[in-house]
Amino acid sequence: MTRPAIDLRSDTVTRPTPAMRKAMAEAEVGDDVYDEDPTVKALERRTAELFGMEAALFMPSGTMTNQVAIGVHVAPGDEVLCDASAHIYVWEGGGIARLSNATTRPIEGDRGLLSLGLLQGKIRPDDCHYARTRLVSLENTQNRGGGWVHPLESVAEISTWARSNGLAMHLDGARIMNAVVASGVAAREWARHFDTLSVCFSKGLGAPVGSALAGSGDLIRKAHRLRKAFGGGMRQAGIIAAGALFALENHVERLAEDHANAQILAHAVEQTEGLSLESGPVETNLVWVTVDPALGTASEVAAQLLEVGVLVSALGPQVLRACTHLDVSREQVEVAAEAIRSLGSRRL
Ligand SMILES: *Cc1c(COP(=O)(O)O)cnc(C)c1O
Repeated sequence: MTRPAIDLRSDTVTRPTPAMRKAMAEAEVGDDVYDEDPTVKALERRTAELFGMEAALFMPSGTMTNQVAIGVHVAPGDEVLCDASAHIYVWEGGGIARLSNATTRPIEGDRGLLSLGLLQGKIRPDDCHYARTRLVSLENTQNRGGGWVHPLESVAEISTWARSNGLAMHLDGARIMNAVVASGVAAREWARHFDTLSVCFSKGLGAPVGSALAGSGDLIRKAHRLRKAFGGGMRQAGIIAAGALFALENHVERLAEDHANAQILAHAVEQTEGLSLESGPVETNLVWVTVDPALGTASEVAAQLLEVGVLVSALGPQVLRACTHLDVSREQVEVAAEAIRSLGSRRL
């Protein structure tokens, strides 16, 4: 298949840039299962430092990173509290049950965001009838809710409450750097409210592969054992870690361009009869769109856009998602916006 011109399906579709490929080709490598890959070590140190954590661990995917973190925090039969649309619960293959033998108590948040008020009262009594409530997991930015940044004050309140009740805090930070750039709040300011935090290098940051888990030395040592058991011990992984390092050094500030481009798409959606923003104003690089049945189904609308070389994801019968990322330019986003507007009669 020749590559369609404008691929907005996900921020994972980026190809490594020539400079990133060069960094990868020239990376010093060794066997990381023997603890001998200097590039992986450098990435782990850099990640830990970025988040103000003691240690970090490189893994092949965000899913593995989150599931290893959950496995570190919970014992079989324990319960995880998260939003009902959380990636860890909806989009990770039932991993919490399958890999950690734990149960999940999903809570309906506001556009995917939990608050202290929603969590209070959700800790099960200390009684043998119940699962032991053990972990709160938040997501920032929150994907399914519309790419929202979880307000820092709310994160802080939840964390204080969780910690005073003996619960661990995990952040699914697949897009934490989008939250950092959109909010101006530093990575370590977010991180200090969590015991573990995952970050994806293969989303908006544009690396081909890889995520990392950051946390205390003790938790990361436990994570290291689980990573091996989950099949995530990689050998000369410095090749891919070099892409992630390059992304951290070069592709963070530019996330602001993706956010500005997402505003152009959001504006086009608002101008188009039959389309609306599913969760209100867009804050980062994800644009979730509700399609009015009068315009057709989400798949039909996606097919119409494909005809003019614009790819979006149909993620529900009447739901589309468009993502901006470093492989779509401002000009391409303008073209996509025009294609969106031409779907419906223009609102005046
Ligand atoms: C993509 C994503 C992940 C998992 O990443 P993979 O690398 O695809 O496994 C986790 N959380 C969120 C919010 C994501 O969007």
